[in-house]
Amino acid sequence: MNLIFLGAPGAGKGTQAEIVSEKYRIPAVSTGNIIREALKNGTPTGLQAKAYIDAGKLVPDDVVIAIIKERLAADDCKNGFILDGFPRTIPQAEALDEMGVPIDKVVNIFVADDRIVKRMSGRRVCSACGNSYHLDYKRPKVEGVCDACGSALVQRKDDAPETVSERLRVYHEETQPLEDYYGKKGKLLVVQGQEKVEDTTALTLNILEDNA
Ligand code: ADP
Ligand code: ZN
Repeated sequence: MNLIFLGAPGAGKGTQAEIVSEKYRIPAVSTGNIIREALKNGTPTGLQAKAYIDAGKLVPDDVVIAIIKERLAADDCKNGFILDGFPRTIPQAEALDEMGVPIDKVVNIFVADDRIVKRMSGRRVCSACGNSYHLDYKRPKVEGVCDACGSALVQRKDDAPETVSERLRVYHEETQPLEDYYGKKGKLLVVQGQEKVEDTTALTLNILEDNA
């Protein structure tokens, strides 16, 4: 099964994508994680992306399309995958179509803007392995420390309040038109994001099973 998870930054699509990935045994492919990894390693892609990410802007389409092309060609994507954070613009969605990548369903995790801002301020990420946490919704076992590798948790630079409002603006302008794009193809499934991760997960799994 080939799935796309859509949603505003901080709506919890990454968390849901990871849970569904484990349950369905298909990889979750996060362009955000791939770009952050490239940044950390100082690759040309990373260097190209840095200024955009820090400003809360989208990385140019050709850069992310190249990333996705390469990633989807890997063996572990042969039996399906979950795209988390791609496509984020109409041209990216069109590129996916042109690559001949069939998409079964698009899960749109909906959270209203005022709640998004609150949620983003509580997000933390591991400075070493990139695992993500939340002060309210996905607490680490030990405060400020990564469960997976024991390194320090930090706030992502682009989760700072000034950047969050720009990311939301960009989301409404560039990404939200995808709801229509996939809605018209009959592929859009809408999940109302809940306060508790497990409640959102229950809705996500239900809607996927009902539409399998
Ligand atoms: P979130 O879902 O919280 O916004 P991500 O980790 O998905 O965060 O993405 C972080 C940043 O990486 C984005 O703000 C953007 O700059 C860049 N990025 C990730 N995916 C894409 C994409 N498909 N197109 C353009 N930029 C992207
Ligand atoms: Zn870690």
